[in-house]
Amino acid sequence: MASASVKVAVRVRPFNNREISRGAKCVIQMQDKSTSITNPKQPKDAKSFTFDHSYWSHSPTDPAFASQRQVYLDIGEEMLLHAFEGYNVCIFAYGQTGAGKSYTMMGKQEPGQQGIIPQLCEDLFKRTADNIDPDLSFSVEVSYMEIYCERVRDLLNPKSGGPLRVREHPIMGPYVEDLSKMAVTNYSDIADLMDCGNKARTVAATNMNETSSRSHAVFTILFTQRRLDQMTNLQTEKVSKISLVDLAGSERADSSGAKGVRLKEGANINKSLTTLGKVISALADMQSNKKKKSDFVPYRDSVLTWLLRENLGGNSRTAMIAALSPADINYEETLSTLRYADRAK
Ligand code: ADP
Repeated sequence: MASASVKVAVRVRPFNNREISRGAKCVIQMQDKSTSITNPKQPKDAKSFTFDHSYWSHSPTDPAFASQRQVYLDIGEEMLLHAFEGYNVCIFAYGQTGAGKSYTMMGKQEPGQQGIIPQLCEDLFKRTADNIDPDLSFSVEVSYMEIYCERVRDLLNPKSGGPLRVREHPIMGPYVEDLSKMAVTNYSDIADLMDCGNKARTVAATNMNETSSRSHAVFTILFTQRRLDQMTNLQTEKVSKISLVDLAGSERADSSGAKGVRLKEGANINKSLTTLGKVISALADMQSNKKKKSDFVPYRDSVLTWLLRENLGGNSRTAMIAALSPADINYEETLSTLRYADRAK
C-alpha cells in the first residue's frame, strides 16, 4: 500500500524486569510483515496480522532486531519527505502503558537510542541547511501540548493556568487559542523545549505501572517553505504541519483497578482512542474506495481528532506505530492493540 494515506507498523519490545521476574513467555512471532500472537491458555489459538512493517525489537542480539534508526528510516523519513512536498503529516504511537510508545517517539539520550522525534528534527534541519537554492528559505516553529480528559494544556508554557480553548478558524480549521509557538533554528533549541515540555507532562500512578501516562502528548512542527520568484519578485509559501503524537496508554480502565477520577480518565482516553480509530479507518476506507469522500468522518467526537483534522484528512499522510509487549501476561491487551492497528489499515 505504498501510496495509501495510512501506514501502519507494529513493534515488539524486549521483556521488562517485571515480565522477567514473573517468568513471562513470549507470545509474539514475526515473519517479514506479518505478526502473530498465540493465546497462552490455548496454544492452538494463534492469530495473524499483516502490517506495512512488523518490527522485532525483542532481543537486541537477534539479527532481525529493528533499531531506532531502522524505524526512523522506514517511517519518520518518509513522513518528513512528504512534509517537504507540502503535505501535512502525522505519526502516532499507540499501545498499552509500558509497551514502548515513548521509546519509539522520543527514545533515550544514548547514541543509537534516539526515537523518531529527535531524528526527524535533526534530519529536517540538516536538509534545510543543505539547501543551495538561493530563492528558497525555510522557517520552523514548534508547539507542544497535552490533552488530558479532553482539556488542552500548553507544555511549553505550563504555568499558563487553566485549560486552553479550542476554536475553529474559518480557513485554517481547528486550533488552540493562545498555544505557545516557538520559532527554532536548530535541533538543540527543539531538544531544550521538549525537555521542558516532557517534565511538565501529567503522569499518574496506577496499579498497572509505577507511572502511567494518561494524557496524549502532541508535538507539532510548523514547517514553512518560502520561494521567491525572481521574475515577479513575489513570494509563495508552502506550510506543512507535522504532528508527532504519543498517545495515552490504551489499557482499559478496569484492568488497572481504576476508580473515581481514574475511571473518568479511562473513559475519556478510551473515547479519544476509539474516535481516532474510527477516523483513521474511515480515511483508509476512502483511500481504498470502500467509502465515498462525502461520508461522515467523526472528527468532532474527541478533542484529539478535532485538532488533528487538518493532519488526518485530505492533503495529509498518516503513520501509526503500535507498541507491543511480548509477554504472555499482557496477552489480552496486546491482542486488542493488534486489532486496533489492523483496523487502521
Ligand atoms: P510507553 O511510552 O508505551 O509507556 P516506554 O516507551 O516508556 O512505554 O517503554 C517502557 C520501557 O521499555 C522503557 O524503559 C523503554 O526504554 C523500554 N523499551 C520500550 N521499547 C523498547 C525497544 N524497542 N527496545 C528497547 N527498550 C524498549
